[in-house]
Amino acid sequence: MTVLKKRKGTETTRLITERNVPRISYTALEKYPWLINAFSTREGGVSTGIYSSMNLTFTRGDDPEKVRENFRIFGESIGVSIEQMVYSDQQHTTNVMEVTSKHHGMGILRDRDFSDIDGIMTGEPGVCLVTSYADCVPLYFVDPVNRAIAASHSGWRGTVGNICQSTVSEMNHLYGSKPEDIIACIGPSICADCYEVGSDVADEFTKAYGEESGTVVLPHKENIPGKYQLDLTRANVINMEKAGILPEHISVPDLCTCCNSDVLHSHRGSHGQRGGLCAFLMIK
Ligand SMILES: [Zn+2]
Repeated sequence: MTVLKKRKGTETTRLITERNVPRISYTALEKYPWLINAFSTREGGVSTGIYSSMNLTFTRGDDPEKVRENFRIFGESIGVSIEQMVYSDQQHTTNVMEVTSKHHGMGILRDRDFSDIDGIMTGEPGVCLVTSYADCVPLYFVDPVNRAIAASHSGWRGTVGNICQSTVSEMNHLYGSKPEDIIACIGPSICADCYEVGSDVADEFTKAYGEESGTVVLPHKENIPGKYQLDLTRANVINMEKAGILPEHISVPDLCTCCNSDVLHSHRGSHGQRGGLCAFLMIK
């Protein structure tokens, strides 16, 4: 049985298992019956070794046929076909773009015709947004008024560069999404207690967040000089609120990938010996 260590505080996710494949679901998004939201775990797939068993990344050395089989298996468990998926090309940029049925299968079944895209969005039913993680921060955006969705990868570079703002601006431009209507979730990712950074990274956040940086860049838990604990959840909440998303429309993660590295692929938790998790978001 899959057991996840939850953070204390409000529960924002629940574990659902279908066809023996567990997934993490954001309860705030379950309110919309026209929407599919899911985040994978390490369980239910066919990969072995460090990729065991549900590995959903092609970039860490696993057999691509096994990764495709994992996408098929995971897709079946959530009611999405592999042909409907579009996989971002994440390079720690703040670039975002719209994808449609023209992009079906790209990044999984066939080559992409785009590159360096960390955020994808659509207003088209049947286009499943797929983004990849192993500690970095997944951002989900849902505009229930205009029925538009977006998923963005916000690692430390994407966070300090504010891919959240790029995503909300582009949703507004393409779909007329108003920030105050957007329902946003910060997906399973590394917690501040697990995320130690050096002064190079800490300095970038201090510069970017100014007065609020004291809540983002925290003292090192063992007081090692020149080391800090970075709170990427908090930084992304600030980004979302600055983009105009209402605090009551933001769900924060109630679990950490690194604290759960037995069940979730974690870059830090595995010292880089790992597969990848994916976030899935689709308008039915
Ligand atoms: Zn943790």
